[in-house]
Amino acid sequence: KGQGKGRQVGYDPAMDQRTAALARLAADLRIALDTDQLYLLYQPIVSMPGGELFGVEALVRWTHPERGAVGPAVFIPAAERTGLIVPLGAWILEEACRQAVRWRHELGDAAPRTVTVNVSARQLREAGFAADVNAVLQRTGLPPHVLTVEVTETAVFDGGTALAELRAIAALGVKIALDDFGTGHSSLGLLRTCPADILKVDKSFVDDIVTGGHEAVVAAALIRICDGMNLRAVAEGVETADQAAELYRLGYRFAQGYHYARPLPADEIATYRPAAAEQRSAA
Ligand code: C2E
Ligand code: MG
Ligand code: MG
Ligand code: MG
Repeated sequence: KGQGKGRQVGYDPAMDQRTAALARLAADLRIALDTDQLYLLYQPIVSMPGGELFGVEALVRWTHPERGAVGPAVFIPAAERTGLIVPLGAWILEEACRQAVRWRHELGDAAPRTVTVNVSARQLREAGFAADVNAVLQRTGLPPHVLTVEVTETAVFDGGTALAELRAIAALGVKIALDDFGTGHSSLGLLRTCPADILKVDKSFVDDIVTGGHEAVVAAALIRICDGMNLRAVAEGVETADQAAELYRLGYRFAQGYHYARPLPADEIATYRPAAAEQRSAA
């Protein structure tokens, strides 16, 4: 601890600023991992139209000692490029599984039915990743069906052993969610080869759904594909009641977004309740 900084970065006058910034970020992140600067928030995944809690997605957060909050959109790519995502991802997975077990003890039937953890392409490529997932389930005692591993289409398309690891994870009984669906390549072909249970329809298709543009057409097509292929569709980034109503009309039954809840500390999941307006419209 503490002495990591200089040792990690080294000095190279030819190093351009962006590379230096990336190296510094990665060095700080390695320290963060050892010193409790990282924590997880959990965003409710709700059923529609009532907005009741169905599951949660774990989202990592970092409070940097000097820079304050650094978003995952900044440090996850840095962690991926430096390989730090492997130990970081292992910590995230174990922490989320431990919390899932805690909820099951404390909340019983009211515990989230599924806990979703993001897994990067780089993690999926590691030989033995599925075995690591199994080891975490054994250590924590979490039943496999409660865990959902969330991967992007591009991660699965990465080639190599990614698809084999994903199949091995699915064989454990863990659920597989495809994230940001529709934004990558050859999405529909992937559905035939990849053992997906859940398809997360990207926010970009939800954003303009009420204005009736092409996004709405895609969202309408995707829910039909999911129904036909027995996949659970989760609409991501739902921010307004109008979007929620339109998604429900199209056939969506699961959603996630600021309209329902922001990512919350673990202890606030116990007190999450649907907003009153949602409950009324569901009645
Ligand atoms: P993602 O997996 O697509 O996660 C959803 C992101 O959308 C989260 O951002 C979430 O806070 C945000 N979000 C949810 N509802 C809304 C909404 O209604 N409006 C808007 N504008 N945004 C919404 P976050 O937490 O900043 O994470 C960004 C990305 O960073 C994630 O995208 C994921 O790719 C990555 N990430 C976050 N946590 C982890 C992690 O633990 N491990 C890995 N490997 N990646 C992570
Ligand atoms: Mg994701
Ligand atoms: Mg996500
Ligand atoms: Mg997404």
